[in-house]
Amino acid sequence: MKRCSNCCLPETQDSIRFDENGVCTVCNQIKVKKEKIDWDQRKEWLLKLCERFRGKHGYDCIVPFSGGKDSTYTLWYLVTQLKLKPLVISFDHGFYRPQHLENRERTLKKLHCDFVSFKASWKIVRELMLESLRRKGDFCWHCHCGVYAGSMRMAVEKKIPLIFWGQPDAEYGSYGYSYEEIQEVNERQFNRFVNLGITAEDMVGMLPEWVELRDLEMFRYPKLEEIQKLGIVSVHLGSFIPWDPRKMGGVIRDELGWKWNTVEGIPEEYGWEKVECMFTGIRDYLKYIKRGFGRTTHLVSIDIREGRKNREEAMELIDEFDGKRPASLDLFLELTGINENEFMEIAMSHEVVPYKHDPTKKLPAEPLGDQHLWRNLLGIDRQSA
Ligand SMILES: [Zn+2]
Repeated sequence: MKRCSNCCLPETQDSIRFDENGVCTVCNQIKVKKEKIDWDQRKEWLLKLCERFRGKHGYDCIVPFSGGKDSTYTLWYLVTQLKLKPLVISFDHGFYRPQHLENRERTLKKLHCDFVSFKASWKIVRELMLESLRRKGDFCWHCHCGVYAGSMRMAVEKKIPLIFWGQPDAEYGSYGYSYEEIQEVNERQFNRFVNLGITAEDMVGMLPEWVELRDLEMFRYPKLEEIQKLGIVSVHLGSFIPWDPRKMGGVIRDELGWKWNTVEGIPEEYGWEKVECMFTGIRDYLKYIKRGFGRTTHLVSIDIREGRKNREEAMELIDEFDGKRPASLDLFLELTGINENEFMEIAMSHEVVPYKHDPTKKLPAEPLGDQHLWRNLLGIDRQSA
């Protein structure tokens, strides 16, 4: 596989392109972020935006909150640096890890925030996971749509017209968003890649007959007229202040006591990354089977762009951590009711050329320290998944 000559991203990364020097679109975006953007001016814009909404409604803004490092940092920044009063909302995808729940509680207490959480029925979520896994090799449709459509629905319902997300898409991807613009988080973006190209209306037709469209209410984007009537502004904090995940992980640890954790398939030094979800390891394993790289590639590439790692040490970490079979796969299979052969077959049917996965090369990884606590949180016992 061809890889970026600067970072380590391979050609199987979604929507990546390479310039004449073999440098990828993401690296070139980060150059724009560092060299071209006037961050003082962006900060001015941010302050003006806040003044436009401050004190006008029950809350100044909404913060969609997974409790991961980006949304926790965003919340910390809005409350302590900009003195806003946000409503914190959270789509519960169903797989929050124990320490996440503690981190969340501590964060909400320290920042004195009101909090609303919403969650879809497991019976429906299970169907959604299986169908999106089969169709797209990605079981997280319910999470992507629940977070984005659900947050917008909350903004409409509660009449709070300002939403702050964390890092803009130009930071990690090349889906057509650039640091040169202030990216709007809207229905266009939702349909471009958030929902994997499947709307709730499409999805209901793919599911068993007993599922009705109203069962997918939480995953449907609100009507454009409703959004326009309220004049909703939905933006990323990272369009206004420079984003650096490693630094942010440090800030929330120091300021909020937010604890880092280990995650399957990545080195311990990245203890802020995707620590909230039990099945990050499965998600990354799927990506590896499809595209030949996992989360370590993504993380070391960020560090290369920030000048914190050289390519050689980065490639060593990739070799060591990417692509192992996560121990949580057993629980995932039990929960969804498919076996490992079916899982592999589905995953490999989504392979992105030129990567070709070899299913016989299966390196088992150790379970995470808290995995024994997950069954209880998931509400399952040994007999019934
Ligand atoms: Zn690159």
